[in-house]
Amino acid sequence: MKERAVKGLKIKESLIFERSAPDRRGIEPSYGAVPAIPPADLIPKRFLRSPDDTMEGFPEVSEGDVVRHYTRLSQWNFGVDTGFYPLGSCTMKYNPRINESIARLPGFKDLHPMQDEEYTQGALRLMFELAEDLSEITGMGAMTLQPAAGAQGELCGLLAIAAYFKERGINKKRVIIPDTAHGTNPASAHIAGFDVTPVKVGPEGILTLSSVLDVLDDDVAAIMLTNPNTLGLFESHIKEIADALHERGGLMYCDGANLNALMGISRLGDMGVDVIHINLHKTFSSPHGGGGPGSGPVGVIKALEPYLPVPRIVKKGDTFALDSEYPLSIGRLGAFYGNFAVMVRAYAYIRRLGPEGLKRVSETAILNANYIRAGLKERFELPFDHVPCMHECVFSDKRQNEHGVSTLDMAKRLMDYGYHPPTIYFPTVVHGAMMIEPTETESLETLDNFIKTMISIADEAESEPEIIKNAPHNTIVGRIDEARAARKPCLRWTEPKEESS
Ligand SMILES: *Cc1c(COP(=O)(O)O)cnc(C)c1O
Repeated sequence: MKERAVKGLKIKESLIFERSAPDRRGIEPSYGAVPAIPPADLIPKRFLRSPDDTMEGFPEVSEGDVVRHYTRLSQWNFGVDTGFYPLGSCTMKYNPRINESIARLPGFKDLHPMQDEEYTQGALRLMFELAEDLSEITGMGAMTLQPAAGAQGELCGLLAIAAYFKERGINKKRVIIPDTAHGTNPASAHIAGFDVTPVKVGPEGILTLSSVLDVLDDDVAAIMLTNPNTLGLFESHIKEIADALHERGGLMYCDGANLNALMGISRLGDMGVDVIHINLHKTFSSPHGGGGPGSGPVGVIKALEPYLPVPRIVKKGDTFALDSEYPLSIGRLGAFYGNFAVMVRAYAYIRRLGPEGLKRVSETAILNANYIRAGLKERFELPFDHVPCMHECVFSDKRQNEHGVSTLDMAKRLMDYGYHPPTIYFPTVVHGAMMIEPTETESLETLDNFIKTMISIADEAESEPEIIKNAPHNTIVGRIDEARAARKPCLRWTEPKEESS
């Protein structure tokens, strides 16, 4: 097995303000025949800087300085294109480049959303067909692509549920959410105007019918279940729970952001689920994280279709159109129709893989997670070890704690070996959780090397815990004070202090 070599140039980069020299400039283009128009004639007055509003400290640098500065900063970054990124729940997988090229085809990239429908037929058709494909993959009756993120999808689905009950004159105020749900679920339910009733999962890490029955009454509008849940476990009682809820007139919401484990294998719609959201920017070929654009389509059963956001994309004969004539709709979620380029990637991904390919994605994602689970469970505490996991596995730091080493320490130490740390301290039901999601795109060598690295960290925890507690050692920036960074974020440039070393 080949070792990973983590060595190389580490260039310490000063702030761009510190690189400034008086009157240093980039190129100054000559505009030749174009007459100079004073900015004040072009820019509304309220946006103009007043003469006494000086720009002290504004960096004066050459073009080369700028290019090198930002290129170096970009090299400090770590991404799916750099290496293994097993960030649980986030599905940080390598995505095929061909889908990037397709999203950049001029016919897609140069479209303007205000263009006449006559000229946007291709884009409308793509979105229409993508919604149909996603309905097929998930078993739902109707789908909107409008939400721009998973969390906005949750809000959209819950607002549709609220509108459904309101139209029927039914007053239901509560949403039941288990402690293994994604953190955005209770926040979305609260913003949508519901009261959240938390419920604990059973000893096997999944929700049981009896714990639901303890809190279920006629006031419950919905149960929000994440499946697979954040422990990476399949919620195998979901159908019975949905049946019990339906008997009381409630609706079943399933957070389907973890579709990487389910595609082509099982469909949430067949499990009695009434509303789902999925994350195109996890499973369907757009990277998640980094604040980039996302897409959180929402699928519903037919009875909830009238409440989906407008506009909706409809097909009349051979033409496609945006239609806003849905009087019961919850309205718009944003300008236009969501993040189109993310949809193009998803469409290309689905069409290229086909049903068999999507199934293989999920099977491989599950196999890879179980390979890691099996490779590490001798050395790391695995709290829910009675069944295989789905697309991710969650370990605890209990054994390493005996040597004074915590999950945070081990996450930092992983950076020394060139890996992005897994998701840590989530889900909160596991002490010092390390949530590892390898995804389907990683090779056997990558998985083996990662397992070997984790085992060597477990060895270090026993023999030389100080190394881990002071990690990372090989990164440009060492251990930072995370509590202070979160509580007192320093977002403004201040005069650089004298360097002590
Ligand atoms: C990522 C994720 C979300 C939230 O999606 P965003 O696009 O980050 O808002 C919700 N639920 C689950 C299970 C997730 O993994």
